[in-house]
Amino acid sequence: MAEQAAPAQALPDPGHDEFEVVIGLEVHAELSTRSKLFCGCSTAFGAPPNTQVCPVCLGLPGVLPVLNERAVELAVKAGLALHCQIAPFSKFDRKNYFYPDLPKAYQISQYDLPLCRDGYVEIAAPEGVRRIGIVRVHLEEEAGKSVHSGESIVGSEYSNIDYNRVGIPLIEIVSQPDLRSPEEARAYLEQLRTTLRYIGVSDVRMEEGSLRCDANISLRPRGSDELGTKTEVKNMNSFRAVARALAFEARRQAELLRRGERVVQETRAWSEARQETVSMRSKEEADDYRYFPEPDLAPLVLDPGQVERWRAELPELPDARRARFVREYGLPPYDAGVLTGSRIVADFFEAVAARVGDAKLASNWVMGEVLRHAPTEGGEVEAIPVSVQGLAELLELVKRGTVSQPAAKEVLEEMVHSGRPAGEIVRERGLEQISDRGALEAVVDRVIHENPKPAADVRAGEGKAIGFLMGQVMKQTQGKANPQQVRALLEERLRP
Ligand SMILES: [Zn+2]
Repeated sequence: MAEQAAPAQALPDPGHDEFEVVIGLEVHAELSTRSKLFCGCSTAFGAPPNTQVCPVCLGLPGVLPVLNERAVELAVKAGLALHCQIAPFSKFDRKNYFYPDLPKAYQISQYDLPLCRDGYVEIAAPEGVRRIGIVRVHLEEEAGKSVHSGESIVGSEYSNIDYNRVGIPLIEIVSQPDLRSPEEARAYLEQLRTTLRYIGVSDVRMEEGSLRCDANISLRPRGSDELGTKTEVKNMNSFRAVARALAFEARRQAELLRRGERVVQETRAWSEARQETVSMRSKEEADDYRYFPEPDLAPLVLDPGQVERWRAELPELPDARRARFVREYGLPPYDAGVLTGSRIVADFFEAVAARVGDAKLASNWVMGEVLRHAPTEGGEVEAIPVSVQGLAELLELVKRGTVSQPAAKEVLEEMVHSGRPAGEIVRERGLEQISDRGALEAVVDRVIHENPKPAADVRAGEGKAIGFLMGQVMKQTQGKANPQQVRALLEERLRP
């Protein structure tokens, strides 16, 4: 999910003018618990196949599930961060379907009484902030993973199944059909990922399958408020794939409708290789799953006091933090958005700003040089390459005029690679700016003497010539002269 926005030609005008696109997303996020939802098996990623399983998650006869309370806590915290109502009473249901990666032939999920409902996520849209409704957030268990010998199940000689993932706790976050373009869908997903990461309930790595997304998409005549026939798109494994798949699907449906044909309600898969959606199967209705209450688990009854304690444990959320950065530090909203897009970046910026006492300077450096060197994973900053103290020391040198901005960038580069303190690098490389008035006066006077014509031009009131003289001073000092002081001295000497 690291990709930049797709180039314009990859997302040809999906809605056109006659149709409005209506998109709802179902997002599955694995919760960061150490053990599974109904047993004590480990959830660690990357273990050899079928080494993290037991009779409970393998669905062997005669076993009973035991609910993992930590998973409930994380699901409730996700619901709170998404502004949901938390249900004091919810229950678990069996969702029955047969698929090889589901050994019990049913999944324990929540059907009519989910844990959280009626929330929202705010996204930035051209017309301002848009609120995307969240219908529900519920808790359920993960299925296993089929590993085909070939590229897909079709044409494979055999398939293996890894049950390590079976029973890992998931939350399913279902949005209202409030999204109006593939770009909005992407913005919503990004906001969701940032929020879940901030509160630490999920590591939301799409590459490891801990964040997955299915989309419902339909078209309707612009101005209508009825819903058209929708298709569901699955198998999108990056934010870019989501945007592209939805753009493709909107265009496909628009062409059908324009020809007077109808859209068939079905499940389609995004093919990365073909860059198009392909039909998988006609849509199951909820009835096909034969939901019924899970008889082995008691209903989930939450103590309101506990919910409030969990609410109090939530960190400041990205939206609130962005607004505070604008208010408290006077940063432009764009800058505040970049800095709060990741919690470790926001924490780092605040610590540096506090030490240096100059939020704008700290913001410029964190957004520019620091993020340029920061390792990222799936578009998310994983670590800050310098210490708070290290960057603060460097910015102090910039503030005092000891090093110029370009020299300071060179110093930061070296700090990132060697971890050595700024002051040491500056001294070793002789990067101190010459701010000593006496030393600068000597050079300025020499340059004026050596360049009588430009000096005379400046005296005659021709401002441009001063740039040439400054250049000469910088050249004679190997770029180390403090440019503000040089300009001031030249102006003083050559006052018309
Ligand atoms: Zn187990």
